Amino acid sequence: MDNVISLVEKKKLKGYIVPFALDGAMVRGRLVRLGSALSDITEKHKYPEIINKYIAEMLALGAALIMDMKTNGAITLQITNSPLIRMVVADVGSNGDMRACATWDDDALSTLLQGTQNPSLAQLFSGGNLVFTVSLEHQAENYQAIIELNGATLAECMHHYFRQSDQVPTGLFVCTDFLNALDGGNTYLAGALLLQRTPIDHSKDSETIEKEEDDWFTDISLLATITPSELLSADISAETLLHRLFHERDLNIFPLKTIQARCHCSKQRIETILTNFSEEDLAETLVEGKIDVLCEFCSENYSFTEAEISQIRENKTE
Ligand SMILES: [Zn+2]
Repeated sequence: MDNVISLVEKKKLKGYIVPFALDGAMVRGRLVRLGSALSDITEKHKYPEIINKYIAEMLALGAALIMDMKTNGAITLQITNSPLIRMVVADVGSNGDMRACATWDDDALSTLLQGTQNPSLAQLFSGGNLVFTVSLEHQAENYQAIIELNGATLAECMHHYFRQSDQVPTGLFVCTDFLNALDGGNTYLAGALLLQRTPIDHSKDSETIEKEEDDWFTDISLLATITPSELLSADISAETLLHRLFHERDLNIFPLKTIQARCHCSKQRIETILTNFSEEDLAETLVEGKIDVLCEFCSENYSFTEAEISQIRENKTE
C-alpha cells in the first residue's frame, strides 16, 4: 500500500483520497491531498488568488465528504447570495472528477483587497450561504443543506453544521497553500482529513458505549494535532502520516482513489438545457444564425448551427 501511495507522490502529486477506518468500522476516515489536479483548474481560470484559495478549500472539502457512495454521484459545494463574490461552485464526482468556477464583482473585490490582503470569510461572503448538495445518479431528488457562513473558515461552518444537525459525529481539518514556482506558475495545494463515527448503538452495555466515546474523544484529539505542513508535505506519504497520527489505534488503510480535473459537460448535456428554453429565449440567444454556449467550468465552447436549433425546436414540440 505504501508503495502505491509513494509512487503517486514521487511522480507529481496530482490528487487523491485515501479512505481508512479506525477500530474496525467504528470510525471511518478520508485523507485528501490535492496537487496538480487543483492547479489544472486554477491555471485555466486565472482567478484572483483569494478566490483560488476558496476553490481549493471547497474541492478538498467535497472530496473528503464524498464518502461511501453506493451509486455514482457528486457532491457540490456552492456559495451563493453574496454581493461581492457572487458565486463559487466546486463539484467532486464519485469517479474522482472535480471542477470549479466562480463569479465576483471585480471593483468591489479590488477595493476590499486594497484595504486588506487577507480578508475574512465574513468580508468576502457577507450575506452568503454555503449550499451543500449530494446528487445520486438515477435519483430524482437531491439531498441539499443550506449552511450559514458564520465561522472563520468554511471547514468550521461545515463542522458547525454537522454538530447542529442530526448528523453523525464528525471531525474535520482542511488546509490550503500555494507555492510560487520559479517559472511564475503557482501550484495550489489542498488537504483535508475527515473522521466520522458510526452513531452510538444504545443496545450495547454502558461500559462499551463509554469506551467507544472515550476512543472517539482520543481520535478527535489526535486529529487536532495535525499541522498544514504535515498534511501538505510531499515528503510524508499518506500512509506514514496516518500511522503517525493513529499509531495507537487499530488502523486500516484502503486503496486510494485518484482525483483529476475533468468536466463532464458535453454537447448533449447543453442540448438538454437548450430544450428547456422557451421559444423566445432560444430566439434571443441566437446570434448570427448560431448559439454559442460556453461552459463556465472548463471554458469549452459549444456551437449550435441554425439546423441544430431547428432540431431542438422540433424535439420540444414532440
Ligand atoms: Zn465543461
